[in-house]
Amino acid sequence: MKKWLGSVVAFVIVLIIAGCGNEKTNGDNNNKETIRVTTTTGQVADLVKNIGGDKVEVVSLMGPGVDPHLYQASQGDIKKLDQADIIFYNGLHLEGKMDEIFEKMSEDKAVIAIADSVPEEKLLSADDGSESYDPHVWFDIEAWIYGIEAVKQELIKLSPEQEEVFTENATSYKKDLEEMHQYAIDQIQSIPAESRVLVTAHDAFKYFGNAYGLEVMGLQGLSTDSEYGLKDVQSLVDTLVERNIKAVFVESSISEKSINAVVEGAKEKNHQVVIGGELFSDAMGEEGTEEGTYIGMFKHNVDTIVNSLK
Ligand SMILES: [Zn+2]
Repeated sequence: MKKWLGSVVAFVIVLIIAGCGNEKTNGDNNNKETIRVTTTTGQVADLVKNIGGDKVEVVSLMGPGVDPHLYQASQGDIKKLDQADIIFYNGLHLEGKMDEIFEKMSEDKAVIAIADSVPEEKLLSADDGSESYDPHVWFDIEAWIYGIEAVKQELIKLSPEQEEVFTENATSYKKDLEEMHQYAIDQIQSIPAESRVLVTAHDAFKYFGNAYGLEVMGLQGLSTDSEYGLKDVQSLVDTLVERNIKAVFVESSISEKSINAVVEGAKEKNHQVVIGGELFSDAMGEEGTEEGTYIGMFKHNVDTIVNSLK
């Protein structure tokens, strides 16, 4: 009797081991079918979630209100990057303090910059005397759409049996983004031509302005890693007065201090400027809210701008 039980147990153990062996392995992810993805910004996380669906488990390092230009990875973040099967980030030095970590991580897994999939002719230069590009590519939906194909291809490499699902998701998400692109074009065009000027705290919106027909002025440079100066405030105030611009905008990931200085400066020159609302620039909204998704965040920005400038 005991001997019989023993062989059943042995048989079951053999089955379990055989089962494990058959399972697809993604890096050291032996027990799960999902691909473990770690991303930097919310925009990148949302892109991967839309294409991977329930076949991916996405951990995003940078939540709402977090400024990627200044972000430094914690020990906990390194662990999350280490445990991932694949890492997606924005690139073009948006996550300027993490470049070294990405290089190190790329020794044993794919580390993919979404911006690298955008054709060079779609990129805008940083205009800071260097030869680098402006990293805020997600604000031109046509450029960001290139990321869909890149994510899809990488996920298929890790999980070829899910090719059909990833392809379907990618096609449907691309359609959603194309619709939002057209919405943004139509809405911005409803603002009178002379009022199509977007003044914000830092230069995150050049792609947005370029794609949707707004002149863009930022108080700070491309990276928030530079203090704004009095001269910048003054020249921006002069422009507001000269062009009779009614509203300026604050950003969720930047302190309001700089833009408040502009509003005050205009007041001193008897020009009334209001803060038109908060725009999401480098970070998205809270998870679970509409603004916590890329499309929702984009719509919020378009509607906020149109309501204040129209
Ligand atoms: Zn930025």
